Amino acid sequence: MEKYDVIVVGAGPAGVAAAKASGKTGAKTLLIEKAPAIMANKPCGQATSQETLKTAEVKPEPDIVLNKAYAIVYAPNMNYVKIDRIGFLIDKSRFLQEIAAQAAEYGVEIHVREEFIDMKIADRSVVVKTSRGEYEAGVVIGADGYNSRVAKCVGVIEKSEPIPTIQYIMVNCRIKYPDAVRFFLGNNVAPGGYAWIFPKNEKIAEVGIGVRVASAKEYLDAFVKRFSDELGKAQIIDYRGAPVPIGGMIKDPVRDRVILIGDAAGTVIPLTGAGIHSSIAAGLAAGKVAGEASQEGETSRERLGEFYELYKPWIERIDKSLKVLRVVEKLSDSELNMLAEILSDQDILDLANGLDIVRVAKKLASHPIFAIKLVKAILT
Ligand SMILES: Cc1cc2nc3c(=O)[nH]c(=O)nc-3n(C[C@H](O)[C@H](O)[C@H](O)COP(=O)(O)OP(=O)(O)OC[C@H]3O[C@@H](n4cnc5c(N)ncnc54)[C@H](O)[C@@H]3O)c2cc1C
Repeated sequence: MEKYDVIVVGAGPAGVAAAKASGKTGAKTLLIEKAPAIMANKPCGQATSQETLKTAEVKPEPDIVLNKAYAIVYAPNMNYVKIDRIGFLIDKSRFLQEIAAQAAEYGVEIHVREEFIDMKIADRSVVVKTSRGEYEAGVVIGADGYNSRVAKCVGVIEKSEPIPTIQYIMVNCRIKYPDAVRFFLGNNVAPGGYAWIFPKNEKIAEVGIGVRVASAKEYLDAFVKRFSDELGKAQIIDYRGAPVPIGGMIKDPVRDRVILIGDAAGTVIPLTGAGIHSSIAAGLAAGKVAGEASQEGETSRERLGEFYELYKPWIERIDKSLKVLRVVEKLSDSELNMLAEILSDQDILDLANGLDIVRVAKKLASHPIFAIKLVKAILT
């Protein structure tokens, strides 16, 4: 049976980053992916910040960054806040391949078309069963997405609350703002979530929706109809959906000899549903800890718990963003309209990403409605 210090399951953003970081420590690392290629298997808007590429140490080359865009957030009455910070619309498959290439340079072995089936955790190691055979590992990193089989194998039944999403890739569009990613809020548009238009250019866009307690497809089709001037002649060339874990991180993603990361652990930023950057960061932290711990021969839950220290800034962001989500999801359309009038672009960025939310809370403290609803929730 082949032995590895670390086996990473799943080659999404979390997994490729974990494999790279583990390989960088000198650990003998195997990355397995059930799909036939390292590619973005799951539907994704592929919108991310410039910092994501810096975190991943990937250069913003034209084959990876397909479009650069500012953001516009629309309130239910279609008043909007423009956020001038430029983000990237990436080719996620190429981006993941680039990180996988870095991992390979650190000596990581990559197996595509190999599915993780099961594992048995022993005192000092883990026996991993895949569709191709059995391996022994010091530590297993579960980066196998929302329905993680690695999580099931270690008896983790807790799952971050999901929001169902559907996304179309539409061609032959007449996109009015090809340099903007647009978010649309409101209980008529997307109850408990938001709809989005993320353009690659004037003709091609990712158009999607996340909604709670409603049929996502019905709402998405209504949204597409509403934008008939831009989408009326367009055709759908990709129609997929997947749950996004927006309920915050699960309580204990670290076990003896196992770390769960990315969607498997609920590391998405709750208010935005963005998970690429936070998954990459989780992968880098988990891979480093697992690689070092495995080579030391000390792979207990306590030792692997160093992951929490390394990932702490992100854990705090996820917690803060969840607090804000819990208030925003209960706001009526008129309250959302009001909020859009009060908040600046920086306020929205801070609230959505779980950054300086106390500053925004203080700004809202004198407002009769938000003082009670938002400020109390944020400051307690
Ligand atoms: C519709 C939609 C739009 C989104 N848009 C954005 C966006 O614009 N920006 C953003 O930042 N985030 C977005 N997200 C969230 C983001 O896509 C995820 O949070 C992120 O991809 C999670 O990364 P991950 O590596 O944890 O999991 P995943 O990306 O799900 O990767 C898991 C990998 O594990 C593999 N795998 C699963 N089971 C096994 C197994 N048994 N054996 C081997 N391999 C296995 C899968 O094939 C897959 O490659 C969106 C999500 C959805 C659903």
